[in-house]
Amino acid sequence: MAIATTNPTTGETLKTYEPLSDEALEEKIARAATAYASYRLTSVEDRVGWLRAAADALEADVDAVAELMTTEMGKTLVAAKAEATKCVTALRFYAEHGPAYLEPERKDADAVNAVEAYVTWQPLGVVLAVMPWNFPLWQAMRFAAPALMAGNVGLLKHASNVPQTALYMEELFRKAGFPADVFQTLLIGSGTIERVLRDDRVVAATLTGSAPAGQSVASIAGDALKPTVLELGGSDPFIVMPSADLEAAAGVAVTSRNQNNGQSCISAKRFFVHRDVAEEFTRVFAEKIGALTVGDPMDPDTQVGPLATESGVQDVADYVEDAVAKGATVVVGGKRVDRPGWFYEPTLLTGITPEMSLYAEEVFGPVAALWTVDSLEEAIEIANSHPYGLGSNLWSEDEGERARFVRDIESGMAFINGMTTSYPELPFGGVKQSGYGRELTEVGMRAFMNAKTVWVG
Ligand code: NDP
Repeated sequence: MAIATTNPTTGETLKTYEPLSDEALEEKIARAATAYASYRLTSVEDRVGWLRAAADALEADVDAVAELMTTEMGKTLVAAKAEATKCVTALRFYAEHGPAYLEPERKDADAVNAVEAYVTWQPLGVVLAVMPWNFPLWQAMRFAAPALMAGNVGLLKHASNVPQTALYMEELFRKAGFPADVFQTLLIGSGTIERVLRDDRVVAATLTGSAPAGQSVASIAGDALKPTVLELGGSDPFIVMPSADLEAAAGVAVTSRNQNNGQSCISAKRFFVHRDVAEEFTRVFAEKIGALTVGDPMDPDTQVGPLATESGVQDVADYVEDAVAKGATVVVGGKRVDRPGWFYEPTLLTGITPEMSLYAEEVFGPVAALWTVDSLEEAIEIANSHPYGLGSNLWSEDEGERARFVRDIESGMAFINGMTTSYPELPFGGVKQSGYGRELTEVGMRAFMNAKTVWVG
């Protein structure tokens, strides 16, 4: 894919970038290694100050960077501003809580015949972050804020369709006063990742994106014995039981499935509704989907904009066509919007069967698939048959159902009576083909730290 800004609302390519030459890439890696040698020795207080300065600088830039994101990948301007604001919160979160996460952990010295025993948390070095375009600022910030607090140095290989947002990230940390080169953007294609990952000066990698990209990075990193965190796809189940507040559940279902124009890994994508309330829920859900305003993402009234890429909208159209050909019913939507750009109608499908390709894959667009089930157990069984296990949702007032859901659903996150969302205050990540490791909180920060055991006799 060319490294370029192409506006999904019009299909027009606005700016193209040359990938870094071998020499320029070598220089950036060398600079990162040099930066790490001194950055790891900086004080926690200094890092807190730089994170706070980055938060202030980003807060001042929210409108500008939001416009950039909307132009590059089509999310609504309203959503882009919310994303940038969330990044400000994450920077402040790590400034506030990072110092406590870095405190040494005292252990029972007597039990190990020591005078003193503790675990000290130390940075690992230069970490490569391979990031996707769907939340171009948040996904990268979710890595950057804890990594920089920890004393690591970041190299960002962002998706090729969001180069300006990627360059903005580098600029943000520079303007916040961080030491030179602690966070650099590499404008490279995915074919160059192996060269970076195998470099001895790069010690670990994190990737958010598709399963094939994750497999590629994990196998190279495995061969080179470097740790990785992978946050891959999701096809989150959303289970509605008879005791649920149907109006509230349908409202959240619509928001979850159509947020970010349907392109979020933690969108609810598969809806399992108990037979007793299936007709009523489906009617309300379809009505709300049909009422969504699709249009220019810069317009504050727009709720669903275009998909980020032409291949993305084609993939969604193919999934729906395949399902309909195999017997699915289109309750609402079901086709591309007749206008320039990469728009797809918010869609609801019922009558899903295992032969349909969307059954066991991820539809990265505004398409909801709905099953009618006879019990919570049936919903969980179908939900768990999917290779992914990222987030999950249950709507129920029944304590027993909630407990069974939390116990049995195969996912990294379980949300009850609310929407799966990422918070700096909660660990984020999945199981099965959705990846491994966790981001956010102290768990995310320590994924790229050395838990060094210290024993003093
Ligand atoms: P990709 O996984 O292809 O892109 C994500 C990042 O990985 C980009 O920086 C990309 O670089 C890079 N990349 C691509 N191929 C490789 C590779 N073989 N080795 C290493 N890095 C690679 O996502 P797409 O944009 O193509 O989206 C395809 C599907 O991925 C979606 O339909 C969705 O299912 C899933 N996805 C999930 C996301 C999530 O949040 N979990 C986010 C985005 C996508 P480059 O842009 O240069 O190709």
